[in-house]
Amino acid sequence: MKAMVLRAPSDLVETIVDDATASAEEVLVRVTHSGVCGTDLKIYRGDIPVTYPRIMGHEMIGIVESVAADDDGAGYCVGDRVIVNPVLSCGQCFYCRVGQENLCPNGGLLGRDRDGGFSALVSAPVDAVFQLPEQISNDCAPLIQVMTTCHHAQQLAGMQAGETVVVIGLGVSGQLHVQLAKASGAAQVIGITGSAMRRSLAEQLGADQTFAPSEDVDNEIRKLTGGRGADVVIDCAGSMATLKQAIELARPGGRLLLFGIYTDEIGRLPFYQLYFKELAVTNARAAKASDYPACIDFVLDGTVDLDSMISHVLPLSQLEQAIRMLDERDDARMKVILDHT
Ligand SMILES: [Zn+2]
Ligand SMILES: [Zn+2]
Repeated sequence: MKAMVLRAPSDLVETIVDDATASAEEVLVRVTHSGVCGTDLKIYRGDIPVTYPRIMGHEMIGIVESVAADDDGAGYCVGDRVIVNPVLSCGQCFYCRVGQENLCPNGGLLGRDRDGGFSALVSAPVDAVFQLPEQISNDCAPLIQVMTTCHHAQQLAGMQAGETVVVIGLGVSGQLHVQLAKASGAAQVIGITGSAMRRSLAEQLGADQTFAPSEDVDNEIRKLTGGRGADVVIDCAGSMATLKQAIELARPGGRLLLFGIYTDEIGRLPFYQLYFKELAVTNARAAKASDYPACIDFVLDGTVDLDSMISHVLPLSQLEQAIRMLDERDDARMKVILDHT
């Protein structure tokens, strides 16, 4: 099968490899569309270690090519269009038994710990695929994987109707958080980014107010919240500076949802405010299977618009170019989708 194979950091080739095969507990999917993500960029660069050769890609949809012979209850059959949940779990360990399968230490991620979707075929556990309603377009559907991660995070943060939610960073995840916060009944959703284009997109997708970081954001948010600050601050930027800002913008008794992936080990933060405000801090790593049906419904009923977050659709063979685009600062670049057909 055709595959984009990473042979070593920054050494990506289009080549022919043996077809992916599925065991008795797996399903084989012919990948038609995939999404390129910051995690792929980090794997490509060697910042996230993997074993080589590796086929990356964890946001993918396709057509079921074959299903395990002994599986009748999967809810899909050969020829169905499906999305693959790339988060693997063992089903046996403590975490799997207590419903935290996304934290399974024996699990992993397709496209990082096992070959993923930047190829013609991918195999996945039978319970890791979800049928896609035909109303959801091929270009949009891979984004549902990203959305499940945001949805899981907001479940952990316990979003309540009537709250004021601030989202720092309005890339794809930030725009999804804006829409999901509105869907859970937030009274006000406020977005912060330096990009005018992304501010206007967030407003189009439901943000009530947006600010550039250069504005007096702290003061503006106080004005909008009776002097208190935000109930929930979601940091999608993942830097020490934005984490500090999140602590400052939250009201006493508020919550922080840390959605950027922080890799710093040392930094200056207003720890006293964290204590004095009695802030709850939530981190989210990966979605659960149960997030998929919920997110598919949100797309289907129009609660979440994925279309306006797609800026580029490229052929699979241009994966390297797509990954390099993620490395450039470009406000107009949002989600890059690869078409495998
Ligand atoms: Zn991703
Ligand atoms: Zn497990």
